[in-house]
Amino acid sequence: MKEFDYIIIGGGCAGLSLAYELEIFDKLKTKKLAIIEPRTNYQRDKTWSFWKVIPHNFEDCVKKNWKNFSLNFPSEVKHLKCESYPYQTIDSNLFYKKVLSKLVLNKNIKFFNNINDVEKKDAVIFNSVASLSNHKDNIWQHFQGVEIETPKNYFDEKIFNLMDFDCDQRKDVHFFYTLPFSPKTALIETTWLSRMNDDSLKDYDNQLKNYIKDKLKIEDYKINYKEVGAIPLFYPNKQKNSNVINIGTAGGMTRLSTGYTFLNIQEQSKYLRQNLENIKGIDNFEMNKKYQFLDKIFLNVLKKNPEKMVNIFQKMFKVNETSIIKFLSNKSDFKDDLSIIFKMPKWTFIKALM
Ligand SMILES: Cc1cc2nc3c(=O)[nH]c(=O)nc-3n(C[C@H](O)[C@H](O)[C@H](O)COP(=O)(O)OP(=O)(O)OC[C@H]3O[C@@H](n4cnc5c(N)ncnc54)[C@H](O)[C@@H]3O)c2cc1C
Repeated sequence: MKEFDYIIIGGGCAGLSLAYELEIFDKLKTKKLAIIEPRTNYQRDKTWSFWKVIPHNFEDCVKKNWKNFSLNFPSEVKHLKCESYPYQTIDSNLFYKKVLSKLVLNKNIKFFNNINDVEKKDAVIFNSVASLSNHKDNIWQHFQGVEIETPKNYFDEKIFNLMDFDCDQRKDVHFFYTLPFSPKTALIETTWLSRMNDDSLKDYDNQLKNYIKDKLKIEDYKINYKEVGAIPLFYPNKQKNSNVINIGTAGGMTRLSTGYTFLNIQEQSKYLRQNLENIKGIDNFEMNKKYQFLDKIFLNVLKKNPEKMVNIFQKMFKVNETSIIKFLSNKSDFKDDLSIIFKMPKWTFIKALM
């Protein structure tokens, strides 16, 4: 059995972000790190996007930045700007390559497929494998995306579409999301906010095919990449072992009202690196309690009134765009919060508190 100072369980976004942060700040010069990851081959499996509200280590993995975005509601199309906080997309393949090629240079870092291959007793363990309860009432953000290529120029690459709600809602919450990377290529996703027990919502291939043909009016295209995912919009079960620090999705880094996780993972990695010498004496990095509280109410509203959600999103995006971006990215101040709260239908939200 090999002995290590630190063990990271799961070499995905959170595990590798933390390992990279520790490596570039020279925390692994004399300390040993084991990363436990069952996959043997890394390839593109996710497209991480977010408004860049803080600096991060992966600017060179950004596939595209946008300063404009749109939203479609059945009664209007809104065009908004995000110049102060550009929306960025990271290709997971570039991320994995960058991190792995750096980590491999340090002899103190070793990869293993199984936790039983290392001695855990005296190590600080960072765990990114989430233990998720499958309670039937839990809400998920589940989706499928395809990156398509058209033979002729079709997309306006300067503006991405955050949410197109002008589609079949099937008594749940449904939208399409389009990220145009160039005039000929775009990632198009069909996204649901719902419980997971209704398999009839998961005919993603058909939803995308019909949207591309009927709404985008594209007949001729090829699919270069496909991704499918389900982000839990509830907190995972906490491991009770005090030796284990949960990170990433397992560590509650997903913003429950949006599914955004990537930048929170970067903030958590920075916090853990800054506090590494006293890691057992500090509280873990947490989502601000304000957002935990507000997101809980938001999800109660969604559970009780899925049919009202399109209207609620439309009202939310009536506030100043900088306030809404800061709010959705956990960076809002009291004034931003109030401007959004005042736009919400009071009784629907008050009833969701009960
Ligand atoms: C398809 C997809 C797209 C997403 N897009 C966005 C986005 O645009 N913006 C955003 O902010 N968030 C997004 N998210 C949410 C979130 O950022 C990602 O899920 C992110 O990968 C979470 O990082 P993580 O390290 O917690 O989990 P993961 O990246 O899933 O890493 C967990 C790792 O643990 C490994 N593992 C599994 N079982 C074991 C085991 N028993 N022992 C050891 N290792 C194990 C897995 O192989 C994996 O590598 C997306 C999620 C998905 C699924």
